[in-house]
Amino acid sequence: MEIFKNSCSLDCFDVCKIDVYKEDGKVVKLQGNKEHNLTDGFLCSKGLKHLNRLYDENRILKPLLKVGEGFKEISFEEALDILKNRLSEIKNSNSTNSIIHYSESGAGGLLKGIHDIFFNFLGGISTASGGTCWSAGCAAHDYDFGGRKTSDLDDMKNAKVIILWSRNPAITSVHLYKKLIEMKKLGVKIITIDFRTNETSVISDLHINVKGGSDGALALALCKMAFEHNLVDYNFSKNNIVGFETFKEYLDTITLDELLLDCGITKDTITKLLDYISLGNIMTFIGYGLQRYVNGGNSVRAIDALMSITGNVGKSGTGVFYSSKIYPQVLDRDPYKSSNFAKNSREFPITKFSEFVAENEIKAIFISKANPLNQLPNLNKTLEAYKSIPLKVCFDMFLTDTVKNSDLIIPVTNTLESEDIIYSSMLMPSLMYNEKVVEPLDYRMEEFEFFKELAKILDLKNYPQVSKTEYLNKVLAPLNINVEDLKKQDLNIEKGYIAWEDKKFKTPSEKIEIYSETALADGFEPMPIFMKATKGSDEYPIRLVTPHCKDSLFNQHVGDIDGISSIYLSTKNIENFQEGEIVIVSSQNGSILSQVKIDSNLKKDEAYIFMQWSKKQGNPNFLTNSLSSDIGGQVAYYDTFINIRKSIV
Ligand code: SF4
Repeated sequence: MEIFKNSCSLDCFDVCKIDVYKEDGKVVKLQGNKEHNLTDGFLCSKGLKHLNRLYDENRILKPLLKVGEGFKEISFEEALDILKNRLSEIKNSNSTNSIIHYSESGAGGLLKGIHDIFFNFLGGISTASGGTCWSAGCAAHDYDFGGRKTSDLDDMKNAKVIILWSRNPAITSVHLYKKLIEMKKLGVKIITIDFRTNETSVISDLHINVKGGSDGALALALCKMAFEHNLVDYNFSKNNIVGFETFKEYLDTITLDELLLDCGITKDTITKLLDYISLGNIMTFIGYGLQRYVNGGNSVRAIDALMSITGNVGKSGTGVFYSSKIYPQVLDRDPYKSSNFAKNSREFPITKFSEFVAENEIKAIFISKANPLNQLPNLNKTLEAYKSIPLKVCFDMFLTDTVKNSDLIIPVTNTLESEDIIYSSMLMPSLMYNEKVVEPLDYRMEEFEFFKELAKILDLKNYPQVSKTEYLNKVLAPLNINVEDLKKQDLNIEKGYIAWEDKKFKTPSEKIEIYSETALADGFEPMPIFMKATKGSDEYPIRLVTPHCKDSLFNQHVGDIDGISSIYLSTKNIENFQEGEIVIVSSQNGSILSQVKIDSNLKKDEAYIFMQWSKKQGNPNFLTNSLSSDIGGQVAYYDTFINIRKSIV
């Protein structure tokens, strides 16, 4: 049996290292690498399913062309020919920005991102700004610290308290969860702050059950109490914070009672939390859920402020971590300077996708590494806009809801069929080489090869007609390593690293900017303020939250799951329903069918449906609003309100 080195290409915090076992030309087993510090020999079910996906009988293996209501298989030559004709026409009319390219992170890998390079060489197109995942929090950290950094996870043992704020690693980052269990045994206190009792909160020393959309109010309440209880690090603040006094003055204008009312928690509860904070050495991991509100960026900025004024930034055992965005800054991800050719580039806010399509003459859309007709909000409207585009081209492995509504489908490789380099930007900054384990059915299923051919027949003269190794070596060049080096050993350039230890923040002032002139100049609040959580109406009284589930990552592989969506309701909310009953869930945007489940710890005016369902299974994005967060253009999915009715009266 041969063993190949690989790593998980899913958009996950952990980026596991995988041993791939091959026998008689077939992959037979995946196993977590035992030597890799974080992976520690095990993979989650999502990662293990790379193997199922490789040999899935429903996989798309040939290009498909829409004919009537169905598809017919065509050859790669025919698919390339169709694209050559359509793209030449668009390029010759100098209107390449009538093409949208929508891409997410469904398949990690530097070579899987080649679409962007191709479209730059084509002349520049339209792409979405903001995001469905984490962009409000990213913007918040950029204003506050000038960037995003995470300390080496080994530093967790130097913390006294670890706060998981809207983060549920038992489901979304199982290897971090394992480390938390180890830390707990060492005496580190674990606190979860989340709108629901979740799989991590049950092992925590304290769970703060905050109302959806009021995380910022909770952080401001803690800031106020930190001043009152002498927990502010004045020395650190004086030397490292811009806007400290202004922020303090602002806090004096709001009362603790109004903040606590918004959070839905009592003074006793917040005092318990403050008691833990008074222990010092606080490490906070912020999740992406709390920034999926219209006040999401403000909430992250308020948490950053709390951690900063209490001196929990830039020293061992402390930190406020959102992501580790290191490799995009140090790799040359555009080694052939394609951006110089992208003269027609433009952006539109992702929350305005439908409006952008309606108001502009969009001739084609290309989808890569994404399933927007599952992931975007307000899907009835999004679907209508999508269908109106004359040419819809989708790169995918399976018949997703987006594929079903597209005109031309290009099959792509599974991660085990592609050589690539994987990096994480979220938890641990590893750079890993992925070996090709088995050959794909056609070499053009590798996007790198497909776009090389398309560029050749379109006569894009400057397009890099080079080998993958040559390309990757140029990407790696700033690190003074090459593909051969990475084949021998993974790279982690932040081993032993303490985030912001040098106190040289990347803001204009080189300090933490609780008051940010940059934010003000961008038209936003310069510092975190009290932004109340939104409320439902008489018609739609219940807030709908759509968190991650354990079986799927942000709807990338919805085929992994069977069944119908479940809506979790409070016991106070189900007097008219039975557990297991199918109900109609409606918002102002549409309705779905869903099965009732009970979460006895939930608040009366909150409900949740995990993100994992296709259209026919009751995808909650047919209900969600296409609102934008305050900063960063994040889709504010969780500011959606619903009602529930019986499906059979
Ligand atoms: S999804 Fe995450 S935890 Fe699961 S195998 Fe992949 S990287 Fe590891």
